[in-house]
Amino acid sequence: MKNKIKKLIIYFIILMFFIFCIKDIFLQKVIETNADDEILFQTEYKEFDYGDYKTIKLLHTSNNEIEELPLDIYLYGVVSSEMPASFEIEALRAQAIVARTYTIYKIMMGSKHQELNADICDSSLCCQAWISKENRLARWEEDKRKEYWNKIEEAVNSTIGKVILYNGQPINAFFHSNSGGSTEASENVWGGKYDYLQSVETSGEDAYTSYASEIVISKDDLIVKMREKYSNFEIDFSKNDCIKILENTESGRVKKIKIGNLETSGVEARTIFGLKSAKFTIEIDENNVKFSVLGYGHGVGLSQCGSDSLAKKGYNYNQIIKHYYKDIEISE
Ligand SMILES: [Zn+2]
Repeated sequence: MKNKIKKLIIYFIILMFFIFCIKDIFLQKVIETNADDEILFQTEYKEFDYGDYKTIKLLHTSNNEIEELPLDIYLYGVVSSEMPASFEIEALRAQAIVARTYTIYKIMMGSKHQELNADICDSSLCCQAWISKENRLARWEEDKRKEYWNKIEEAVNSTIGKVILYNGQPINAFFHSNSGGSTEASENVWGGKYDYLQSVETSGEDAYTSYASEIVISKDDLIVKMREKYSNFEIDFSKNDCIKILENTESGRVKKIKIGNLETSGVEARTIFGLKSAKFTIEIDENNVKFSVLGYGHGVGLSQCGSDSLAKKGYNYNQIIKHYYKDIEISE
């Protein structure tokens, strides 16, 4: 009996010693986790200082060369690439401020091209479209070159230093070509919610060619395109509800759609069928499926055609920006 008690005491001492040893490991882990949170917190709320963005290291995707440019010289190439120079000067000014904000936000959040020591690249598919002055001028008709380039410089130079801020930080200033009448809340496109990127209406966008479009594809092509993405896709076109929009977002875009035996989002259907936007309706006839589409682009943030339309109604750049981004301020 005595021996048993002795053994138990020894086991107890060994167990206590073991707990004493591993407690430091757990404590260390907690300390490290807190440290990580603190680093995240600091990155997210790093004080914005406009002076940090005087020059931009631009990556040319055609040859992987990096060119260092003053921010506003870089913006000439962005504005002239992103918005038609024939648009109203107030719309171009709004675009210049949006592009400046977008650029700074991208760099603050961490460049995609850090390994090449570049801040941003010239591709609209990756970062933001940019075109050299030489190439831009060559694409305009000769008698318009001087007038258009002066407008681009004026749009950027007259808004120097202006950045769109929300709670003192540059915003994720998304923009697109034509909202088809109403913009989309960011969470319906990418899932991420930003309070300043909500759905707003703009009249007058129907005056632009990018407002309405159609895509007609044969039933056979529809099957091919769906099977490229989903090998288990099946559809019975004899059924009335073989393709059915199940739900729209507040802005009128397709949120959920049933195609044959599958359900997908409007954003994905847009990609699969090459539609200009997710704001569409569908008609099916004997051989074809027709998508009637409104707007051009993801629909989030500033609409370029909407901005031009508002400028024609007398809005200045300040009012245009405040129409598209909620509860923001523009820094001086
Ligand atoms: Zn890029």
